[in-house]
Amino acid sequence: MSRSTRMHEFDPHLMGTVLGYVTERLALTEPPIDGLGDRAAMRGALEGLIGDGPRDPRQVLDVYIDHLADTIMSADSPRFLAFIPAAPTKAALLFDMVVSAASLQGCSWLEAAGAVMAENQALETLARIAGMPADAGGVFVSGGSAGNLSALVVARDTALRECGEQTNKFQVIVSDQSHSSIANALNICWMEPIVITTTDGRLTREELTRQLAGRDLSRVAAIAGTAGTTNAGIIDDLAACADLAEEHGWWFHVDGAYGGAGMLDDRVRPRYRGIERADSLVMDPHKWWFAPFDSAALIYRDPRLARAVHTQDASYLDVIHTDDSDLNPSDLAFHLTRRARGMALWFSLAVNGLDAYRDAVRAANDMARYAAKRIRATSGLELILDPDLSVVLFRVEGWSAEDYDSWSERLLREQIAFVTPSKWRGETVARLAFLHPATSAEVVDEVLATLQ
Ligand SMILES: *Cc1c(COP(=O)(O)O)cnc(C)c1O
Repeated sequence: MSRSTRMHEFDPHLMGTVLGYVTERLALTEPPIDGLGDRAAMRGALEGLIGDGPRDPRQVLDVYIDHLADTIMSADSPRFLAFIPAAPTKAALLFDMVVSAASLQGCSWLEAAGAVMAENQALETLARIAGMPADAGGVFVSGGSAGNLSALVVARDTALRECGEQTNKFQVIVSDQSHSSIANALNICWMEPIVITTTDGRLTREELTRQLAGRDLSRVAAIAGTAGTTNAGIIDDLAACADLAEEHGWWFHVDGAYGGAGMLDDRVRPRYRGIERADSLVMDPHKWWFAPFDSAALIYRDPRLARAVHTQDASYLDVIHTDDSDLNPSDLAFHLTRRARGMALWFSLAVNGLDAYRDAVRAANDMARYAAKRIRATSGLELILDPDLSVVLFRVEGWSAEDYDSWSERLLREQIAFVTPSKWRGETVARLAFLHPATSAEVVDEVLATLQ
């Protein structure tokens, strides 16, 4: 075997080593949360690992297992209740391995027609659940941040095409609860936010009307509503946003990165009214659609508008742009090369069926309602809001910010749960984010018991 081809040859020892570990990890029903790395210890373990010659894969894998793996928190643990957890299905995880093993890319119709078909079937399923028109379409990007940015660039350039030359920044109406990635996206694409202050976290018709009255709205390009705020799981009045967008000719963007999947729970589906009128909608499969990192579905009402903005113009690419009837995924966001990351969701949706997804989303909402009930019934604890979705905010009477921090540290140290404090109207509060359908009432009870 020549040295140049050695690393591309099939090696049963390498295969057995890695797949053995993969099988063990996939079989864990409750991976330990773990967490917190020691830089010096890890540097010591990694010292000299990459050299000029080969090394036994078993030895390298052991470095990962013994020194690195435990410092990477298991976002898929049913006890991971911080930020927004992850809970990929086994089918999605396994098919992601197919995407890797077969080098499935999803740039263009020319190179990857089958991947485009499968990803589009998954996107159509999501668009149909949102009630968007049949010719809506889009692409899977790396995350909600990439989705928000790609969509808002289309909003800006669409406004620019309509109004011609623009020497001042375009503006986008957002709320004080919009995700940080929206502010970031506006900064990157030279737009500025008009921030509507909310009273209970929800962008409402009343506040929009009151706070926009008498303002110069001539530079507004878009309004961005949130379908499930990350901090509190609140769904904006999307119909009010859609009405305003329609009245003024603005782009209507919906950020449902976390909460979009909540549409699968019939009990809260009516709160999403108006989402079907979005010009662009983002939902993260790597959050509540139970797919592996990193995946966000970006869906446009009219994908041709996105193609007009994002198609990269390079002479070596002309060959992929010959047939106008087929949309190339690479033309619908700011990227070019991309793995066919949507196929993991596609496979899992088909294998498990939508009812399983409905049950899983409902389970997280149930757990939030259970936690809220327990908090209300416990003296010394105070629920801040009745949860719309699967996030619960509460305060512990008499606690300072430091108390919340040391509680969070204790829960992690004892591996009871990973819970991080948040802020509500400037006050430090406790926050539980549910997503994994295996997070049980016992876990909630254990967490709340540490507060007694
Ligand atoms: C998580 C989140 C984002 C960012 O998504 P990433 O996938 O982390 O880039 C944007 N908006 C909302 C509402 C989110 O919850």
